[in-house]
Amino acid sequence: MRHPLVMGNWKLNGSKTVVKELIAGLRNELSSVDGCGVAIAPPVMYLDQAKHALSGSQIVLGAQNVDVNLSGAFTGEVSADMLKDVGAQYIIIGHSERRTYHKESDELIAKKFALLKAAGLIPVLCIGETEAENEAGKTEEVCARQIDAVLKTQGAEAFNGVVIAYEPVWAIGTGKSATPAQAQAVHKFIRDHIAKENHAVAAQVILQYGGSVNDKNAAELFAQPDIDGALVGGASLKADAFAAIVKAA
Ligand code: PGA
Repeated sequence: MRHPLVMGNWKLNGSKTVVKELIAGLRNELSSVDGCGVAIAPPVMYLDQAKHALSGSQIVLGAQNVDVNLSGAFTGEVSADMLKDVGAQYIIIGHSERRTYHKESDELIAKKFALLKAAGLIPVLCIGETEAENEAGKTEEVCARQIDAVLKTQGAEAFNGVVIAYEPVWAIGTGKSATPAQAQAVHKFIRDHIAKENHAVAAQVILQYGGSVNDKNAAELFAQPDIDGALVGGASLKADAFAAIVKAA
């Protein structure tokens, strides 16, 4: 049976002091977590420090991005092997901020997905529609297209052991979360979409919700049958709020 995963996406926030204090706070609040995976994705600069600070805890290290190239003349980039080398396991790809600000395409993200799998890392594939797409009734069409970039080229089996984060763009960092019913409807659509190709894979894939999750709305979201935890931005920067979200899962 699949278990929920709550993952903190720190985005472009933190410092050596923040890493030290936030992880100490999380270790204190989450000394025993049962039935829920917990991961944090600090900026790449601090992964090694975070890995050491997490040593002996149940909190797993993640990262926010990976380059599509394996090595060589790609100034400023970080490879899958490097992430693996410092102990990151869950790697976020396709976040809407990267799709928007770095013009990442479905095809590029699908390539990253494949290379993470080949490296033995776990993709956390972010998908979700913009506000305009939502208002135009295109939510399912957009989510299907973003999933199909992997599904139609790598097969449903590629989703074995993988995490998908449904993050409606209009809900990210806005304080305006999708309602539990809205999110559940899209999660069910995503699971059913994969099930058309492979039931067993669809049943085990972890489907996180993301977008303004906080300690107040988490429990109701997690009570939905197809919501398996969350990808948390803003609220992951406070140990007590993040721990409360984990406990709600
Ligand atoms: P938020 O961000 O929780 O601050 O809305 C979520 C995300 O972008 O992963």
